[in-house]
Amino acid sequence: MKRVVIIGGGYGGLRALEHLCKYEQFHVALIDKNPYHYMQTETYGYIAGRFDIADIAVDIQSFIEGLRKNIEFIQDEVLDISKETNEVICKANNVAYDYLILAVGAKTHFFSFIEGAQEHTHGVKNIQRAFEFRRDFESQLYNKLQHSADSEAEDFHIAIAGAGLSGVEIAAEMGYVLQHYKKSFALNSANITISLIDAAETILPGMDSYIVDKTRKRLKELGVNIYERTYISKIKKESIVFNDETELPFNFAIFTAGIVGVDLIKKLDTPKNSIHQIIPDEMLRMQGTDNIFIIGDCAQIEDANEIILPPTAQIAEKSAEYVVKNIAKLDNQQLITPFNAKVDGMFIALGGNYAVGILFDKIKVSGYVAHLLKKLITRAYRFGLELKVNTGYKKRQIDVLEQHC
Ligand SMILES: Cc1cc2nc3c(=O)[nH]c(=O)nc-3n(C[C@H](O)[C@H](O)[C@H](O)COP(=O)(O)OP(=O)(O)OC[C@H]3O[C@@H](n4cnc5c(N)ncnc54)[C@H](O)[C@@H]3O)c2cc1C
Repeated sequence: MKRVVIIGGGYGGLRALEHLCKYEQFHVALIDKNPYHYMQTETYGYIAGRFDIADIAVDIQSFIEGLRKNIEFIQDEVLDISKETNEVICKANNVAYDYLILAVGAKTHFFSFIEGAQEHTHGVKNIQRAFEFRRDFESQLYNKLQHSADSEAEDFHIAIAGAGLSGVEIAAEMGYVLQHYKKSFALNSANITISLIDAAETILPGMDSYIVDKTRKRLKELGVNIYERTYISKIKKESIVFNDETELPFNFAIFTAGIVGVDLIKKLDTPKNSIHQIIPDEMLRMQGTDNIFIIGDCAQIEDANEIILPPTAQIAEKSAEYVVKNIAKLDNQQLITPFNAKVDGMFIALGGNYAVGILFDKIKVSGYVAHLLKKLITRAYRFGLELKVNTGYKKRQIDVLEQHC
C-alpha cells in the first residue's frame, strides 16, 4: 500500500484527508503539532465572545475516527523533510512517505521594519493568542461594569494593525459587542476605543470597491476609528508611533498585516517568494520533485492567468482537492493537468447580523442577506466536521468501554 503523509491539519490538510479516504489504495497519515484543528475563519466571533472554544477548535483524532477509515494521526512537530530518503523528520520520530502533502499554513508576519511589532503586539493565527485577547477584552468590559457608577474604570484602547480580511472582521465584531454592551447596561463605553490602521490607500486593499465602501461605512457606524494611508514606524509597549511622530496609545494591540512562511518552510531548500511561501510548479508540486505537493497558505498559488490567489481557506481546500486527484492519477500512471481554480466569492462578517460579499464576481450583497449566506457557508463547514467528530467521539467511548470489559 502506498503511504500518503499530510503535514498540517488545517483547512487544506483536513480536506485532503477527507478526499483521500475515497481511495482504497492508500495508507494515510496526518501529522500536526496540535491535537486540534483551529478554525481561524471564526476567530473574530471567538474574540468578541460570540463563539465558544468548541466552535473554533475540533479534536483531530475524533474527526479521523469519524471518517471510519484506517487513517493514522501523529501528533508531532515536523522539523524537516528528507527528499533523499522520502522521510518526514519529526521531533519524536521519522515518518516515511511515498507521496507527501505539505499543508502547514503560515504565521503572522510581524514586519521587521516596524521596530517593536513582534515584541508588543499579538497575532491571531494561533489559538492561544486569540484566547488571551478574548480574556483581556472580557475583563475590560467586566471592569467597566463594576465601576460604572463611580466612573473609575480606566480607558481601554484596542489597536489593530492591518485592515485586511481578518483585521476588519475582528474590528467590526468588537465594535458591535461594545455597542450592544453600551445599550444593555446603559453605560458610556466611549473610553473603550477600537482603531484599525493600514498603510494602504484603503482598508481591504485589493478588494472590490463595493466591499471596501460598504465595510468602511459599517465600521464607522460601529464606532471603529479607521486610519488609512497611515504608516506605522514603531510600536512601543503601550503606543503605536506613526511616521509623522504622532502616537496612538493602546492597551492591547494585534497585528494582522500579513502572513509569512512557518519555520519548517523557511528551512526547506526550494524556490520561495519574499514572504517564504513555496513557489510550486503548475501542478502544485515542489519544484524538482514528483511526489511532494504544496497546498494552502504555505504555497504561492496562481490561477490560470498567473495571478496570485489570496491565501484563504477556500483556496486551501480547492488546492487540497486538486492534489488528491493528482496523487490518485499519478498512482494509476495517468497524466495530470495544471491547477486551474479561482475565487468563487468572498464574504466578510461585519458585526452582528451584518456582512458584505461578492459571489462569482457579479452578485454583490450586503446586510442581513449577506450575513445569512456567510452563515450558511460556515455552518455547512462546521456541520460536516461535527458529524464526523461526533461519530468519532462515540466510537472512542465504545472502544474505551470495551477495553474495560
Ligand atoms: C482571523 C482570520 C480570519 C480569516 N477569515 C477568513 C475567511 O473569512 N475566509 C477565508 O477563506 N479565509 C480566512 N482566513 C484565512 C484562512 O484561515 C487561511 O487561509 C487558512 O487557515 C489556510 O489553511 P491552511 O490549511 O493552508 O493552513 P492552516 O489552517 O493554518 O493549518 C496549518 C496547520 O499546520 C500545522 N502545522 C504548522 N507547522 C507545523 C509543523 N512544523 N509540524 C506539524 N504541524 C504543523 C498547524 O498546527 C495547523 O494545524 C482567515 C484567517 C484569519 C487569521
